[in-house]
Amino acid sequence: MGDYMKKYDERNTLFSRVSLIEGTKEYNEYYKNLEDQKELDDPLRNLPFRDKLKKDQDYKNMFYPLIESNKYLIKDLYNRVQKTEIKPKVKLPQNFTNNIKEITKYFGATNVGITKLTDNSYYEIAGGLTGALGFNNYNEKIKNKYSTAIVYTIKMDKEMINRAPFFEELLATENAYYKVANTGSRLALYLKNIGYDAFSNNSEYYLAPLVPLAYDAGLGEIGMCNHLVTVDNGNNVRLGAVFTNLELEADHPIDFGLNAFCKRCSLCMMNCPSKAITHKERIVNGRRFFKFTDTKCFKMWTSSGTDCGICIESCPFTQGVSIEDVKKMKDDQDVMDDILAKHIIKNGRRKFTKGDLPIVRRDS
Ligand code: SF4
Ligand code: SF4
Repeated sequence: MGDYMKKYDERNTLFSRVSLIEGTKEYNEYYKNLEDQKELDDPLRNLPFRDKLKKDQDYKNMFYPLIESNKYLIKDLYNRVQKTEIKPKVKLPQNFTNNIKEITKYFGATNVGITKLTDNSYYEIAGGLTGALGFNNYNEKIKNKYSTAIVYTIKMDKEMINRAPFFEELLATENAYYKVANTGSRLALYLKNIGYDAFSNNSEYYLAPLVPLAYDAGLGEIGMCNHLVTVDNGNNVRLGAVFTNLELEADHPIDFGLNAFCKRCSLCMMNCPSKAITHKERIVNGRRFFKFTDTKCFKMWTSSGTDCGICIESCPFTQGVSIEDVKKMKDDQDVMDDILAKHIIKNGRRKFTKGDLPIVRRDS
């Protein structure tokens, strides 16, 4: 289990890599000494993978438009925040942290935490994933100009997630990405209106990877699936973060015993159809993650036409573990085994609900 400090580079993320166009200067530079990675990535490049959804064309014509406009709306929200000038500072009480948390919930967050940003929090170089916002930031150096991150979760619809890897899973994640942008943009606008610069991270533009920040902000622990796993909603959440220069009181990571629990559970790993998840730990910048093969995971996306999501529906914490049991489970393997046994009796190895939800059901 190696421990090393590194700056995050968005160009190393799967979506940035597979967006590179073969033969371009950027492509040749990126893969110069990465032949093995190139071989894995090349077959995944420029795939119209949403077309692979196993539904007929009438279904696609009817229901794809449910999510088609999200990116345009996210762009509008992004532009509104960017265009808004920072007003003069208003007088705030010494500790405004609790108000900010409640305000973030008022704007739509499920849960909120605060953490301080350091040089190592940010991506050092941007990965060019901002196309939907109308510009390409590939290779740009990211400026770390904010000191505080207000990090939040948005709960996804469990009934939809429990249809993973089918279309409802995509409806759940896309809806949550839009809600993340909406909540973050309203919060960023509010902060600018009270005198503080703010940036709302959204699915089209991240200044930093959010899982480490959500962990630091005490919103949950990092599970074997490499997602943030929350006590209340498991990994059935999407993450958002507003960066600002308003100084707030930072939260701290929590430990409810998830690491030991994951070792006894492994359900996400066992159910993952592409074998992308492993039990091998790796420490990155002081936080525990697990080795993960992103190309294997994305291959599954390209065959299902959705974001798969089986590792979300598999997690006992997504399906619900009683808060009393969570409180008792840390350092108590019997309680962990009891939680797992109850989960398996109720949900089986993997909770999966058959049948279309009413939103996409065709009666005739
Ligand atoms: S989304 Fe699917 S393929 Fe990817 S890690 Fe989760 S279960 Fe595996
Ligand atoms: S499914 Fe089990 S092993 Fe995977 S993150 Fe959830 S608790 Fe951990």
